[in-house]
Amino acid sequence: MVMALSVRATVTDRGAVLLGKNVACDAFEETKPLRVVTHAHADHMAGLRQSLRTCEKVLMTKATKDMIDVMRSPLFLMSGLVETLDYGKTIQYDEERMTFFKADHILGAAQVLVEDFEGKRIVFTGDFRIDDTPVLESDVLVIEATYGSPTCKRSFSTDIKGSLVSLAQKGLKQGVVYVFGYHGKLQEVMEILHKADLNVPFIAPERVFQVSKVCQNHGMRLGQLMLSTEPEAERLLKNNSPCIAFYHMESKGNVGWDNFRILVSGWEFSSAIHQTGNKEYVVALSDHSDFNGLLEYVRRSRPEFVITDNFRVSNGETLAKEIRKSLGISAVALPQGKPS
Ligand SMILES: [Zn+2]
Repeated sequence: MVMALSVRATVTDRGAVLLGKNVACDAFEETKPLRVVTHAHADHMAGLRQSLRTCEKVLMTKATKDMIDVMRSPLFLMSGLVETLDYGKTIQYDEERMTFFKADHILGAAQVLVEDFEGKRIVFTGDFRIDDTPVLESDVLVIEATYGSPTCKRSFSTDIKGSLVSLAQKGLKQGVVYVFGYHGKLQEVMEILHKADLNVPFIAPERVFQVSKVCQNHGMRLGQLMLSTEPEAERLLKNNSPCIAFYHMESKGNVGWDNFRILVSGWEFSSAIHQTGNKEYVVALSDHSDFNGLLEYVRRSRPEFVITDNFRVSNGETLAKEIRKSLGISAVALPQGKPS
């Protein structure tokens, strides 16, 4: 009997994206032998400890493994059987084949393609930005929905990278510039500012420093980075000498209150730069597609059936409705029941 497309993938109440018979992505699912971590953001590592204990294999890219090793501990992933898989390489399990493809999001991020026993292509995008993400053709598509509402369109055409560099230059005239962002995004900012030849020291606390080292090992160009506890770094910060300090978004309430501050965030749609305080700015640098980018992926992927990830954000229902309305493709938000 031919299986309905709608049952070949789902998203569970715990946020596991199930593809075909064997694969669970981004959260724990006891019935699936293979666990995939699409990338090293916390909301995609749910229940990883349990998966390591009970799954046959936990799969991720080498870069994602290296990121998790520094964000948790090198011992953490050793509690299970972790296998790294390069983009474009296929593994076979039972009658199914699984392949990772690049997702333009943070270092190591992967899209997942499962080809099942009938040759149906089941795709999970993971988090992605449409710009440099190859669009995979699919029969069933599970797509992230972070900016899945029509209110989430970035219509400004400003050169955001250029604006970021100018803003940093302006701040450096006053001394230390603090940049706040999430892992992965911070390193993207470092790369932009390094390539702009600002000629000032870059400083980072331990965890950001370690994640940056992983990014450098995988080919990102971030320049020389100083640990914030080094005497030279402490001196620069204390004297308010021109330098750039990169901190995780969680630290924005703790450091750099009197300094020039730049927050990098995707939740900004009205303008490329938005002043939020006397010396504080939000820059609209996103590592997710906006609403139009999400629809573009679906259109080019040409699926027969779409599931929007309604676990990690609340825009799943809205995006599914828009896909049905503007593309005429069957779409549901899963898990059900979260208000839009
Ligand atoms: Zn992410």
